[in-house]
Order: sequence, then structure tokens, then C-alpha cells
Amino acid sequence: MSGIADSCRRGLGELGRAVSDTLLPRSCQGCGEVLEANERGLCVLCWRGLRDAIGDGEYCPRCGSAVGAFTQAKDGCNRCRDFKPSYEQLARVGLYRGPLAEMIRKLKFRRETHSARLLGELLLGAVEGVQWEMKFDLISWVPLHWWRRWCRGFNQAELLGRRLGALRGQRVGRLLRRVRWTAPQTHLSRQERRENVRGAFALRRGVAVADKKILLIDDVVTTGATASEAAGVLRKAGARVAVAVVAVAGR
Ligand SMILES: [Zn+2]
Ligand SMILES: [Zn+2]
Repeated sequence: MSGIADSCRRGLGELGRAVSDTLLPRSCQGCGEVLEANERGLCVLCWRGLRDAIGDGEYCPRCGSAVGAFTQAKDGCNRCRDFKPSYEQLARVGLYRGPLAEMIRKLKFRRETHSARLLGELLLGAVEGVQWEMKFDLISWVPLHWWRRWCRGFNQAELLGRRLGALRGQRVGRLLRRVRWTAPQTHLSRQERRENVRGAFALRRGVAVADKKILLIDDVVTTGATASEAAGVLRKAGARVAVAVVAVAGR
């Protein structure tokens, strides 16, 4: 459990954050510059950076890597062909870079929860831009370990899932729990990540998902190992699962 105590800075700066949010409601969520009256959420430069992170909208439906417009990536692309995820399809807003990455960092590490509004809208756009092979009954999210959630005060994936549910007028449900602390995965290979998250999730008590079609939300995927492990628990319980994330990292 090393690193857990260091990772918890709950409470510090909470008040400062609340104050700066009220004083600076009209700043760019990417770079923090003051916004012009006609700008919304992001400044012109950050919108441009965001478009760059989103790309032309062609990406692998398994790992989220950008692919050429004429590539048949239904069964994965060059990056993920040996990866058999437990989810059926993946939607993503863009690559983890520029203002998109900055908004996620603000949400996760600086607790600027208002970032979830714009990110939720972008996620809606990504979800609606995909031809899904199922009609979802329910939106849920990849849970955090309770300690990490307590430290942060919220789970960013849950905020995004709830926002998406509200925007789509769709039911949301807390389905999974994290039963085990997992070490940060930053320096692990795909195989090591898979090992690292094995058995990390379980169905919450009393939850039944047989025959449900579930859209599982997370903020960032790298190899997809965590999302796949979480999806696998739902699938074993009889559900069909697809995944939607804000950003794909490491590409
Ligand atoms: Zn900006
Ligand atoms: Zn791929």
C-alpha cells in the first residue's frame, strides 16, 4: 500500500479553490486565460488545440488510436490486435494532449469539478458520433478505490458518467466497486497492467446486470486494461458492455 498516504492531500486548498472559482468564473478551462465575452469554456487557441486532440474522428473502436479514414479497424488496429478486451466497442473524445489533457488534470488533481461540464458535453459528442451495436439501458463508470475517492472527494469518471446520463436523459447506476488497491500503472507494459488490475473489481452487493447493455465511462484509457477488467466483471454477470472515455493516452 506504499504511496497511499502521500497521494492523499484532501482538504488542502479546498477553500482557496472555492474562492478562485467564484472570482474567476470566466477563465479558459484549458490555459486559464480570461475569456472574451463571446468565448465559452475555452479560448480560441485552446479550441484549436482541442480540435487537434480530437483529430478527424477516425479511430480504432477497440483502443482509440487514430487510424486512417479507410482503415478497417473493426477487429483492432496495429497497436491492439493482440488485445481482446471484455468490452465490445470504445468511444473517445480525443488523444490525451493539449487542452483536453489539461482539463482532465484540472478535474482530477486540482478538483476543478466544473471542468466536468464541458468534458461531459464533449463526451456526449463522442458517444453520439459512434454507430453502436447495442442500445444502452444504463450508464456506469469505472470505480476508484474508496481511499482514493475519499482523498479526491469524488470520482471523476462518476461525475462524467452522471453528466452524460443527464445530457442523454439516461439511467445511471453505481454497479462496480474496487476491491483492491492497485499501484499506479504509469510505467507498466500492457501485460503488466493486465496483471496489475486482475481481480481489482467486483459487482456491488445486490446489483443484477444480466441482459443489460451498459455504457461504462472512464476519464482516460492507456492500454484499455483497466476498462477491460471492469467490463469483464459486468460481462461475467451477463451484461454487454461498451466503453466511452474522454482521452486515450500514450499515443
Ligand atoms: Zn485557453
Ligand atoms: Zn486499436
